[in-house]
Amino acid sequence: MTNKELANIMYPSVTKTISDYETIYPERNIDDKAVVSRFAPSPTGFVHMGSLLTVFVTNKAAKDTNGIFYLRIEDTDGKRTVESIDGIVKDLKSFNIEIDEGAISDNDEVGNYGPYVQSKRIDIYNTFAKWLVENDYAYPCFCSEEDINEIRKVQESKKDRIGYYGKYAKCRFLSNEERAERIKNGEKFVLRLKSTGDFNNKVVINDLVRGNIEYPENDIDHILIKSDGVPVYHFAHVVDDHLMRTTHVTRGEEWLPSTPLHIELFKKFGFKVPKYCHLGLVMKVDEEGVRRKLSKRKDPEAAVSYYHEKGIPVEAVKLYLMTIANSNFEGWMDSNPGKSIDEFKFDFKKMSKSGSLFDIEKLLNISRNYISRLTAKEVYENTLKWANEFDKEFYDLLTKYKDYSINIFNIEREQKKPRKDYEAYSSIKSQVWYMYDELFNDNLEYDFDKINNSEEIKNILNEYIKLYDENDDKDTWFNKIKEVADTLGYASDMKAYKENPDNYKGNVADIATVVRVVLTTSRVTPDLYAIMKLLGKDRIINRFNKF
Ligand code: GLU
Repeated sequence: MTNKELANIMYPSVTKTISDYETIYPERNIDDKAVVSRFAPSPTGFVHMGSLLTVFVTNKAAKDTNGIFYLRIEDTDGKRTVESIDGIVKDLKSFNIEIDEGAISDNDEVGNYGPYVQSKRIDIYNTFAKWLVENDYAYPCFCSEEDINEIRKVQESKKDRIGYYGKYAKCRFLSNEERAERIKNGEKFVLRLKSTGDFNNKVVINDLVRGNIEYPENDIDHILIKSDGVPVYHFAHVVDDHLMRTTHVTRGEEWLPSTPLHIELFKKFGFKVPKYCHLGLVMKVDEEGVRRKLSKRKDPEAAVSYYHEKGIPVEAVKLYLMTIANSNFEGWMDSNPGKSIDEFKFDFKKMSKSGSLFDIEKLLNISRNYISRLTAKEVYENTLKWANEFDKEFYDLLTKYKDYSINIFNIEREQKKPRKDYEAYSSIKSQVWYMYDELFNDNLEYDFDKINNSEEIKNILNEYIKLYDENDDKDTWFNKIKEVADTLGYASDMKAYKENPDNYKGNVADIATVVRVVLTTSRVTPDLYAIMKLLGKDRIINRFNKF
């Protein structure tokens, strides 16, 4: 019996040929240097920081070259499906990552190279499988689990390499007649590659992140299609990335050892091998100082939802991801202030081979910088949006006092080095709460410093309120604090104070601190002059009285 006849028995419903598919999915009409890349998640749970970094650089590589970035759903690898396509698309959208092609919801997709969901591509895989059988590059294998265990035991006893290969690949040696007979009898089978690789030969993987890596050639007769007709990752990868005309395969380093198999498959089909970019893991240094993988289970910052809930701007997360993706990015940012990340050219070669270190503190620092450069109005809008979802009380205040709130956010903002106290929209309320009377009312705890005697504080407030005029400019305002100092025996001149501290009860800074703490409860606030201007004289008097 010929291979062709056997192939017809194995795949009776296949009507198309590989060349039909080559016509349906022609070479893309794009620039030679344009990158066609894809995010190919298995729907096994939320998009986490590790996968977000992959998506982010993959997308960037395509964007930088006017290429194509698409989303393919790998739902055939037998892993637990827990996340809907809608969920994945939503996660990507929340980071403003746009796809050019691919699945856009559980039921829809865009693009001419689909279906982009693997479970809808079974006919395509069967066509390619049939071609392999016809050309003696694959065969049906009927081995049971017991058979495979038996082979392993023999290999162990002989101290031979474990696996289904060469002389151990029992079903390789069946005749086509026997194969056909067993299939006709309804026996279950998997499709195996008939490898022609030699373990003693080397294959070089030219990896864009890692450079050239040598591996032994694949000689294992890997399973390509399982007995339920569903392809394994290795086979689907080769078929899909060829037909979708992917130029760059970006994926986790765990796939590196399987790459010789993928190369063997591409070569058997006579297809061009895509460029590989195997990305290292995203790591963190944990509380004990141990460097380990960022974990979905242990680390809240691994979840993309964390950033949304905290109100950390997406742009800041992206800037941070780029700093861990390409170490030259920070320098670029410093020498190109104000330029968009879109103008930075990402380079796979500058990625870390040993994995990227994720440091939430550094991310928050970038976020602080980022928020400090927004306008007060932008901070207001973004905080309002965040509060609408996560803090109703603050949302109501922001809505009620819109202009006032914008003015608060503007304190020390329109200057060369804006103040950087907001690391996330969720942390703003705890820093400006005292500006809202509604929040200033309950259980105040004043954090006084040197002067903490109530009588003395009252004296200071009494003296001060006599002088305070809300129309004063900043110099006059400060001179009046000095005047209070002089009147009550504090040094108004810091130099004089330093020379003879014993001659004074304290100095002008202590007076300012008293006013600051009575108005805000806190010793650390932005510009007191600006705060007082916004509060206005009546509310200042109220707060003095309240104390
Ligand atoms: N579904 C595979 C994974 O999640 C994708 C690997 C790839 O991008 O090729 O690991």
